[in-house]
Amino acid sequence: MIQYKAPGVTVFESALYRTTATVIDTGGVILIVDPNFLPQEIRRIRCFIDEIRKDRELYLLFTHSDYDHILGWQAFPEAKVIASSAFANNSGKENILEQIRQFDEEYYIRRNYPIDYPVVDIEVAADGQVAELGEARLQLFLAPGHTADGIFTFVENISVLIAGDYLSNIEFPFIYDSSYAYEQTLRNASGLIDSHEPALLIPGHGDVTLVKAEMRQRCEESLEYLYNLRQAVQSGEGFPEEKLWQRYGNKRGLMAPHQENLALVRRELENRGFA
Ligand SMILES: [Zn+2]
Repeated sequence: MIQYKAPGVTVFESALYRTTATVIDTGGVILIVDPNFLPQEIRRIRCFIDEIRKDRELYLLFTHSDYDHILGWQAFPEAKVIASSAFANNSGKENILEQIRQFDEEYYIRRNYPIDYPVVDIEVAADGQVAELGEARLQLFLAPGHTADGIFTFVENISVLIAGDYLSNIEFPFIYDSSYAYEQTLRNASGLIDSHEPALLIPGHGDVTLVKAEMRQRCEESLEYLYNLRQAVQSGEGFPEEKLWQRYGNKRGLMAPHQENLALVRRELENRGFA
């Protein structure tokens, strides 16, 4: 379904995990971000692109390499791909592809395009790198912590910040890479919100927001969650879970990632000799 639409931007939302896919139509080119998830949802995005495109160039940006964000790549074979250098050089490609195959075979999913790991045409290597696509200007920022290969994208023309799997209103931080990198990335996000004042924030899962106070609140809530994880591990007093489930809901789905976060933070603190 379409979650949000305004001049220059359309945000699609999957029925699965409320994963977002964004189409930016500004500056003479079309940019698709993370097309996902089910075959008919991707077909819908493909049809939408074909309707609005005319002869314009197509770009495809991946916010990070999690399987749910990349599985639509080959539905847009003519698009030039933008992602981080860490994404391009990811040593876990085969594992990620295996997760897609696992998902598709578990649910007998049939897709009318091949599954493969995206080949990157435009690599984001430096924090703050600018990509000019036609008259559209993207500012790209490195955003490790969730995964090591994440990026934030600020679309200057329409003041949109695309956050990948950060700053969600329905998920606490999922930490696959490092809680310290995650913390720094949240501070960078907070700085970006202050300096760039995005008109619209698009997370990888859940609701977009146009409200500055909510953007800041999402940063704060994510930081607080990281602190609570460390506090719980170091003090041995347990995590204040009741509050967590009041805030985020979907307890049955989110319990496992929460436990994995606790285990990761415990390993981090042990490695630093703090636990
Ligand atoms: Zn992710």
